Amino acid sequence: MDYERQPYRRCGRSGLLLPAVSLGLWHNFGGGKPLDSQRTILHKALDLGITHFDIADRYGPPLGAAESTFGRIFPRSLRDEVVVTTKGSNPMWDGPYGMGNSRKHLLATLDRSLERLGLDFVDIFYLHRDDPGTPLEEQMATLDHMVRTGRVLYVGVSNFSPERTAQAARLLRELGTPLLVHQPSYSLLNRGIEDSLLGVLEEQGVGCVVYSPLAQGLLTDRYLDGIPADSRAAEGRFLTADRVTPEVLTFVRSLSALAEARGQTVAQLSLAWALRDPRITSVLVGASSPEQLEANVAAVDNLGFTHEELAAIERAAKE
Ligand code: NDP
Repeated sequence: MDYERQPYRRCGRSGLLLPAVSLGLWHNFGGGKPLDSQRTILHKALDLGITHFDIADRYGPPLGAAESTFGRIFPRSLRDEVVVTTKGSNPMWDGPYGMGNSRKHLLATLDRSLERLGLDFVDIFYLHRDDPGTPLEEQMATLDHMVRTGRVLYVGVSNFSPERTAQAARLLRELGTPLLVHQPSYSLLNRGIEDSLLGVLEEQGVGCVVYSPLAQGLLTDRYLDGIPADSRAAEGRFLTADRVTPEVLTFVRSLSALAEARGQTVAQLSLAWALRDPRITSVLVGASSPEQLEANVAAVDNLGFTHEELAAIERAAKE
């Protein structure tokens, strides 16, 4: 592990440091991919000082496969050098206890995750989304229970509204288990968290680990000459070809010109841009190859922006 390769940033007002660029296992770690290529990506991540791996019970396909893959390929001797996360909430099995944020579902899905991962505890457990049908008190008491029973070190929420995040943070504080982190979507193509969520997180001392900072690959050079057969948009499950619009391509071309002047690719500029705000703890990237991951971590070589560069990015976004 090269601990000099990238900076580690404090997660909110906690003791936990996370790498500026972290790896997510939503794609590329399911059952259909060769284990060797998955191992190569994971080892590349470790070489690059990526100490933070984001997983969820559902990631695959099939459901649970990314956790099983991680469990098979992660070198156990490094357990104390990494932060492993998982999440629960989304549908995992049939019946009323197979999904949602009831205590009944969450404790069961966490135990199944730990078994697949081959771990005694995860470092961070997230509620993958809010569940308006379950009282927030029950949701937060369950997170607190997970920590007190030793299955989880820190807790987080994902895709929660600013209002519910503030309530969740207050409830958890009363229980004595602080809310470590929120995980929202954030990129140059999706800036909703700037309106109020980031303010709430700062006020509450909660970190912010953002997902899809490359808008699933749209904010790269991947689609500038059409849709490659091995791309996520060609696969069409979560990123559909109709999202590769002429407007997006025009924006990416404008960004490419600005990136070039900074000695970066458009992907590197996009990641550095998300990290320009100190409230953002880490960007969670996906990677279908070790080369993509290496290129993405190199974003940290130029994290500073001039006022002129930021203004040019704003102009390109409005065109
Ligand atoms: P990104 O926006 O980083 O998209 C990753 C994809 O972009 C890659 O799979 C690859 O696509 C393409 N790509 C990445 N780097 C490059 C590059 N340098 N050049 C060209 N193309 C590149 O993030 P994800 O959408 O994958 O999300 C990251 C993580 O965030 C997930 O793994 C998951 O852990 C988390 N997440 C959490 C969610 C939540 O609800 N909490 C929801 C979604 C994600 P290709 O396959 O085409 O090569």
